[in-house]
Amino acid sequence: MLARRQSLQVRIGNVLVGGDAPVVVQSMTNTDTADIPATVAQIAELARAGSEIVRITVNSAEAAAAVSEIRKQLDDLGCFVPLVGDFHFNGHRLLKDYPDCAAALAKFRINPGNVGRGSKKDEQFAFMIQTAIEYDKPVRIGVNWGSLDQALASRLMDENAKRAQPLTPDAVMREALIVSALESADKAVELGLAPEKIILSCKVSHVQDLIAVYRDLAGRCQYALHLGLTEAGMGSKGIVASTAALSVLLQEGIGDTIRVSLTPEPGGDRTREVIVAQEILQTMGIRSFTPLVTACPGCGRTTSTFFQELADRIQTYLREQMPVWRLQYPGVADLNVAVMGCVVNGPGESRLADIGISLPGTGEVPVCPVYVNGEKTVTLKGDNIAEEFQAIVADYVTQHYGPGGVKRQNNTPKVIPVKAI
Ligand code: SF4
Repeated sequence: MLARRQSLQVRIGNVLVGGDAPVVVQSMTNTDTADIPATVAQIAELARAGSEIVRITVNSAEAAAAVSEIRKQLDDLGCFVPLVGDFHFNGHRLLKDYPDCAAALAKFRINPGNVGRGSKKDEQFAFMIQTAIEYDKPVRIGVNWGSLDQALASRLMDENAKRAQPLTPDAVMREALIVSALESADKAVELGLAPEKIILSCKVSHVQDLIAVYRDLAGRCQYALHLGLTEAGMGSKGIVASTAALSVLLQEGIGDTIRVSLTPEPGGDRTREVIVAQEILQTMGIRSFTPLVTACPGCGRTTSTFFQELADRIQTYLREQMPVWRLQYPGVADLNVAVMGCVVNGPGESRLADIGISLPGTGEVPVCPVYVNGEKTVTLKGDNIAEEFQAIVADYVTQHYGPGGVKRQNNTPKVIPVKAI
C-alpha cells in the first residue's frame, strides 16, 4: 500500500474524498445540461461505469433550471451519484436565481479565473462561497492554466521582475496557479467555509508542469486535491499523457480524487474516461474496480485473432457484470484472468492467474487447457470455447466470492447503487 499524503477529508454527497478515503474516480458529462433526458442518461451511464462523482456544466438559466429535475430523475432510477455544478462567469447569478439548483448539487466547482472581473470578482466569489455555506455544500476551487486569473498573474510577474534572480516565465505561471488556488481557499475560509469543505485543483495540460505544480501545492496545504491533466487529448495520446502525469503523483501519495479528461472520438463512449481512471488506479495497486484480463500481445506464433477476441469478450463480460457482482461478490474486483495466445508463455501465465486459458498457436494441437488456481482442470476444444470459458469464469466467481467463498472479502467496497438502466 502506498503512503498517502494526509489531507483533510471532504464529504461530497454520499462520497468521502481525502483523509483515509480511497482515491475517488470522477467524470464530467458533455451533454447540454438543459437537455434533461440526455444528461440523465449520460450521468447514469457514467455512474454505472464506476464514476463516483459526476460534474455537469451549469452555464445558463436553462441549465440551472434543469439541475433539480436531473437529480430527481437520477434518484428515481436509484442512481445516487453526487452531482457537481461547474460554474464560470455567471455562477453567482445562477445560484441566486435557482436555489433548487444549489440545493440539488453536492458540490460547486468555482474557477477563480472565471468568477468575475475587477471589483466584481471578490463580490461574486464571496456570494458563491456564502451560498455554499448556506446550503452546506463543499466547493472545489479549480484553477486552470487556460483561465488563470490575469490580474494575479500580472502581479506575480511584476514581483518576479524585481527579484535579484528572477524565475522563468513558466515557473512564475506555475506559482500563479498555486497562489490563485491557495489565496482563494484562504478567502473562502475567511468567509466562513470550513477547510473540510474545500478541494483544490490546479490543472495544466503538460505532464511535467502538472507534476511540478501538484508536488508544490501538496506541500503547501492540507486541502484534499483533485488531480487531472486538463485537455489531455484524444485516444492513446490522452490516455498516455494522463497516465504518465497521474501515476507519478499518485505514487508519491498525492491526489484524493482523479479525472481523466479525454476528448472522445466522434460517436465515442464517454465512459472511457472512467475506465481509464479506474485502470490507472488498479494497475498501480491502489484500488480494484473490475477483474482484469491479462492477455499476451500476440506475435508470429499465432496467426489467429481468436485469443484477441476472447480476451476482449471476457474483459467486456467482466466489466458488464460488475454493477451486480460488486454487491453480490465482495472482493471479485481482484480476480485475475489470463487469456494467452500460444504454448510459449500461455501455461505459465495462466497458472499465475486465478483462471487462465492457453489458446493454440499456429501448428499447435487445437486444444485449450484451462488452469484454475494454478492447476489444469479441463481442456476445451470445438466451436464453443468462448461460451464454455465464460461459464468457467462465472462459476469461479460464484464459488470463490459468493457466501462462504474463500476469496470473499468482508469489507464490501464502497458502491453507488445504480439500477440496471
Ligand atoms: S504467448 Fe505465444 S502468441 Fe502470445 S506473445 Fe507469447 S509467444 Fe506470442
